[in-house]
Amino acid sequence: MQTLYYNGRFWSGENWLNETAGILVNGNRIESLLSKEALNHTMQRHDLHMIDLNQQNMYPGFWESHIHIWKLGNLMRSIVDLRSCNSVNEICEALQLWREQHPDAKWIVGRGFNEALFDNHTMPVADDFGKLGDGINIFIVRTCAHIAVVNAAALRQLEKYVDALPPGGKMGRDALGRYNGRLYETALNVVYNMLPKMSDDVYMQDILVAQDSLWQEGYRYATDPSVSQRLFRAFENLNRQSSLKLHIELIPDALDESGSPMNFLQEPYSDRKLSARFVKFFADGGLSGKTAALSRNYKNDDGRGWLRMTDDLFLNSAMRFASRGFGLATHAIGDLAIEQTLKVYRKIRKHFGYDILLRIEHLGLPSETHLQEIYKLGIKVVSQPVFITELGKNFLQYLDDTYLRQCYPFKSMLDHGIDLAFSSDAPVVKDFSIQGAIKAAALREVPGWGIMQPSEALSAEDVYKAYTLNGAIAHGYETFRGKLEKNYEANFSITQ
Ligand SMILES: [Zn+2]
Repeated sequence: MQTLYYNGRFWSGENWLNETAGILVNGNRIESLLSKEALNHTMQRHDLHMIDLNQQNMYPGFWESHIHIWKLGNLMRSIVDLRSCNSVNEICEALQLWREQHPDAKWIVGRGFNEALFDNHTMPVADDFGKLGDGINIFIVRTCAHIAVVNAAALRQLEKYVDALPPGGKMGRDALGRYNGRLYETALNVVYNMLPKMSDDVYMQDILVAQDSLWQEGYRYATDPSVSQRLFRAFENLNRQSSLKLHIELIPDALDESGSPMNFLQEPYSDRKLSARFVKFFADGGLSGKTAALSRNYKNDDGRGWLRMTDDLFLNSAMRFASRGFGLATHAIGDLAIEQTLKVYRKIRKHFGYDILLRIEHLGLPSETHLQEIYKLGIKVVSQPVFITELGKNFLQYLDDTYLRQCYPFKSMLDHGIDLAFSSDAPVVKDFSIQGAIKAAALREVPGWGIMQPSEALSAEDVYKAYTLNGAIAHGYETFRGKLEKNYEANFSITQ
């Protein structure tokens, strides 16, 4: 049976369709867009299922192009949420509360603290957890997921592994040169391997909880941009049980924690609601924790972040995956990391032409030259306006004025003709709503601190496009998704 949607306002994927009064759907495809006259005519038919939109807006399904689906659910269901803590004391209170509720746990895992919210702007160290006693291991991950802190008990276990840290990992030291409990980048993986193994069922339940909240926000497609084999299997099981409501794209990590290439998929994968067309590389860390790789120092600091891979490791692995048909999605935030990524992508284009899908995740500090080359090489960008609202405090404290002018320059990206898709990167941030992204992109306001480069502001329409058509483009599905157009997938988001 065909379905007719009418009495709404229709978003094409890139603009409002002022001449369209109704949409006719056949199965899971759009049959036709109807003018006012055609609608009046069609409404005479008696063989249609009719849906009155009551003047709401209808869009091609919204696409969350970069959200850690499992981690979001895991934070909602299974670990301590530290995103609202304003001091080390509040972190300890939250951990203590959780401990009382889980008296048998050997580990307390928390996530989401951000020292930019603390009065002293200082990250915790192992000694700060002394009052929680020694009978428990504590591992808390910073909001960026690139830095963590362990307590003394966990640090003692970890010290055995310092000589065997994976490439790109570091352990922090105090003024006397002793390890202080802070961990950076791939050093976190050592702890992840020490944590009690979670059952597949826990993974699956976490995913389902996150899926529900994404669905409620209006998303119909979502992309988990950093996936291990274990996590891949959990999504696969859910797909097999027909438990996926969203179309989900998984981006497996190209390199595992020891730097070896992913080998559980030999080629891009697609089955019903689940696909994996890309692999994920990390060129650097995050701005909010000063691990993004810059070409000059952070403000009032002698560090400039670092690259997580050598040029050779990155290029050789990228060539290997491209030759197997995978697209490449690379986390690159600092200008130095963007530079390295472009160096690799340039060679990919030279060898494989334009068939390989290329994405850059985040794109925090691109220069004018970078933007020109990103356009020229046909690289899609997936970025996060809500970083300005939730992490802007860190940017304003850590970046000099020149860097601040080029920080998440969304308008410049569009002016250069770049296909820009939006997303939240939750649970790095709390707000994954489209309304939150519209507000962040339009105002560029860091609450309580001011406005970041107002000339880079976007309209609500730019943001809707970044969540519909450009979401499809970023994944290479624009021939059948992301538009209200004849023959496109009939999978809609409807909002007031
Ligand atoms: Zn991410």
